[in-house]
Amino acid sequence: MATAGKVIKCKAAVAWEAGKPLSMEEVEVAPPQAMEVRVKILYTALCHTDVYFWEAKGQTPVFPRILGHEAGGIVESVGEGVTELVPGDHVLPVFTGECKECAHCMSEESNLCDLLRINVDRGVMIGDGQSRFTIDGKPIFHFVGTSTFSEYTVIHVGCLAKIDPEAPLDKVCLLSCGISTGLGATLNVAKPKKGMTVAIFGLGAVGLAAMEGARMSGGSRIIGVDLNPAKHEQAKKFGCTDFVNPKDHTKPVQEVIVEMTDGGVDRAVECTGNADAMISAFECVHDGWGVAVLVGVAHKEAVFKTHPMNFLNERTLRGTFFGNYKPRTDLPGVVDMYMRKELELDKFITHSVPFSQINTAFDLMLKGEGLRCVIRMDE
Ligand code: NAD
Ligand code: ZN
Repeated sequence: MATAGKVIKCKAAVAWEAGKPLSMEEVEVAPPQAMEVRVKILYTALCHTDVYFWEAKGQTPVFPRILGHEAGGIVESVGEGVTELVPGDHVLPVFTGECKECAHCMSEESNLCDLLRINVDRGVMIGDGQSRFTIDGKPIFHFVGTSTFSEYTVIHVGCLAKIDPEAPLDKVCLLSCGISTGLGATLNVAKPKKGMTVAIFGLGAVGLAAMEGARMSGGSRIIGVDLNPAKHEQAKKFGCTDFVNPKDHTKPVQEVIVEMTDGGVDRAVECTGNADAMISAFECVHDGWGVAVLVGVAHKEAVFKTHPMNFLNERTLRGTFFGNYKPRTDLPGVVDMYMRKELELDKFITHSVPFSQINTAFDLMLKGEGLRCVIRMDE
């Protein structure tokens, strides 16, 4: 390819300061170094994590920075030592990686790679501690190893899943973060059997993806729990059969669900980030076999408190990161589930904007409107 080995000048949306609208800039993107890949991003979506680190409240601010991590693209060139990918391959960048060599990667049970596990404070490549982005020679920092709000970006090969080139990148880009997280929490961790009852706490994009997993598993009764009554209507498209708003009841929501289901649900998946909802999710599962899975990220001082008897009575509590998917090994199979029409993704896309209007996507998320806004990089 004509651009391989050369610096590429392209458009990127740069966050210069916390909470200030992103600004469209021409950036220089250096060629990929050892074990790195330069990717042309075609579609990227916005996720709460981008907004959270853009607002940079209560964290170490890393600016100027190119945010973005939920995306799909095509390999432009590869660095030394990269053998699994070639220019033209279709890839999904992932904020957490899979080196395939550490104890976690060698374990069938873990996806918490030692080398490439998410690091939100690092703004440089792990190989040489440098950024691949500059503006007039001044470095611009990376974000979670992906920085997809740029027409071209450089990513460690371990954070790229090679997928079916027939898969539409404007849809499957959603699988690089939130949707896989919720889906995997149900399919890989809660593992409901056909006909089981499943409660989903929190009906944002992650919770609705967990609900999609319950629908795909053939859940008989799928109970959505959310404090926002407006979430009910949308959830129906995801298989929600019952809706419970904790605010409508004087007793704790776990008691309401236990009564509704004659002893408790078979599975519960929590996608709120609220510690009380986590406790409710655990306490509403049936004794003897119930499994609850925590997905939400709770605030620093949060405490999970329950009576040990709840465990003794054969309830299981689990937690999951990125739906327990190993990015390189498992994501291609998730894309295939979409291609076989088992997994529905289109219903998550409520908005779409050209790259020049990326700040609109931020406004929508801040207002809590819609589920996912796909950003088209070529416009
Ligand atoms: P979101 O804000 O869009 O949705 C959360 C929903 O939970 C909202 O609809 C809100 O009304 C509801 N809610 C809040 N408190 C509640 C309560 N006490 N009871 C019932 N409903 C309540 O968020 P999202 O993008 O869908 O993400 C959900 C959670 O998943 C977040 O905490 C996020 O940080 C976490 N997350 C975890 C991982 C992981 O790998 N474990 C990955 C991505 C996101
Ligand atoms: Zn590893």
